Amino acid sequence: MSKNLTKRSEDYSKWYNELVVKADLAENSGVRGCMVIKPYGYAIWEKMQAELDRMFKETGHSNAYFPLFVPKSMFEAEEKNAEGFAKECAIVTHYRLKNDPDNKGKLMVDPNAKLEEELIVRPTSEAIIWSTYKNWIQSYRDLPLLINQWANVVRWEMRTRLFLRTAEFLWQEGHTAHATQAEAIEESVKMMNVYADFAENFMAIPVVKGVKTESERFAGAIETYCIEALMQDGKALQAGTSHFLGQNFAKAFDVKFANAEGKQEHVWGTSWGVSTRLMGALVMTHSDDNGLVLPPNLAPIQVVIVPIYKSEEQLEAISIEVNKLMVGLRKLGIAVKFDNRTTHKPGFKFNEYELKGVPVRIAVGPNDLENGTYEIARRDNLTKEVVSKDGIETYIQNLLETIQKSLYDRAFEYRNNHITEVNSFDEFKQLLDSKGGFFAAHWDGTAETEEKIKELTKATIRCIPLDRVEEAGTCMFSGKPSVGRVLFAKAY
Ligand code: AMP
Repeated sequence: MSKNLTKRSEDYSKWYNELVVKADLAENSGVRGCMVIKPYGYAIWEKMQAELDRMFKETGHSNAYFPLFVPKSMFEAEEKNAEGFAKECAIVTHYRLKNDPDNKGKLMVDPNAKLEEELIVRPTSEAIIWSTYKNWIQSYRDLPLLINQWANVVRWEMRTRLFLRTAEFLWQEGHTAHATQAEAIEESVKMMNVYADFAENFMAIPVVKGVKTESERFAGAIETYCIEALMQDGKALQAGTSHFLGQNFAKAFDVKFANAEGKQEHVWGTSWGVSTRLMGALVMTHSDDNGLVLPPNLAPIQVVIVPIYKSEEQLEAISIEVNKLMVGLRKLGIAVKFDNRTTHKPGFKFNEYELKGVPVRIAVGPNDLENGTYEIARRDNLTKEVVSKDGIETYIQNLLETIQKSLYDRAFEYRNNHITEVNSFDEFKQLLDSKGGFFAAHWDGTAETEEKIKELTKATIRCIPLDRVEEAGTCMFSGKPSVGRVLFAKAY
């Protein structure tokens, strides 16, 4: 199996597109901007979902499901949100087709089947959910309401790219309602932290936690908390967002509760989401010129065993040994696959699992049977060693943990080497192209400066880091006073 992947150093973007397709994660479809997620890619997404779902439930949330369509009048109710998403909405206007009398065999929209009110295909579900919450919330005893939904949404994106930005994408969206402002803010911060924990401990992707500037904020939010990651080409990626919505949606949908004193108050809201974009982040953070590199915590196959044999008897003898090993590994919860296909040569299989990023490969041949050994290869650093079969199960278990950690460490080191402090606009422009990554720079806090910098360099403010130190300085662009550094980067 030939990989023929473009090298990252030659054309990073091409490398990414090829890899996603060749590793069988996803492919473009016949629908503009929409992708097909293939079984291997979907298996990784399912692992992400399972872990996130567990984390949401542990923090008190329950899953529910709301409709795909939002009537236009409902969508319009929260004006800022509606305005923010208006430019990327798909709209249903009719509900029936009929035979086209002028074009035999073709169909046309039936003009008699026009909807009285247009339906918006949800780009996000605040409107439909808050219109429902109105009926669910009457008293402070109904709060907090902590709901999550796993769904697809549609945003009519003009420039799309597999996983990173698609017109339809899969995500989860949490929507919570609270009695007080403090509680709602606490919830938004908590969910940002859940995302950061997931990104770092499961995806092995270090992230910066921060808040968005006003111009990058979610339409309809008071504050957007985010986690920002850095890809291997020095571009940033918004990996997750958590919004404090204030009382904006409660006011728009008239969602009130009677407090303990019996007084009516509007409730406070949050919403938060991560999407299939995380799949793109995973690929772009760890993979190399040989293919995918998956962190063991998210790998659908953590260990693959490839038999090396010349005769059927040899394969049989190897199989007996391997079956015992598999029982032992499965007892430890390790996802193991024995590739005993007789239709493919070991070299082909090695290539395939390298391309698919399986963290550990075990090869076993007649010599190993004789010596009581296995040959173990690591995908992350491409090293091999021969290991005795005694205690092999714990050895593998520890190795998977080591790989998980070393992937994180490698990404962390790269990220930290790519946060550069700059003090002048010239220095910023020069390093933005030659080095890439995040740039910690002073900014005067105005949208005008932010916009001008974006126009001139394509770099945006990724976030105001939550852990930044207050430090008086002057804006690198305008020279006006600044209270602390923000992170600029070119982003996906
Ligand atoms: P938002 O509702 O805009 O805060 O986005 C929620 C999450 O979905 C964030 O993690 C975004 O990075 C991600 N996201 C936004 N637009 C897209 C898109 N077109 N394709 C994939 N993910 C997206």
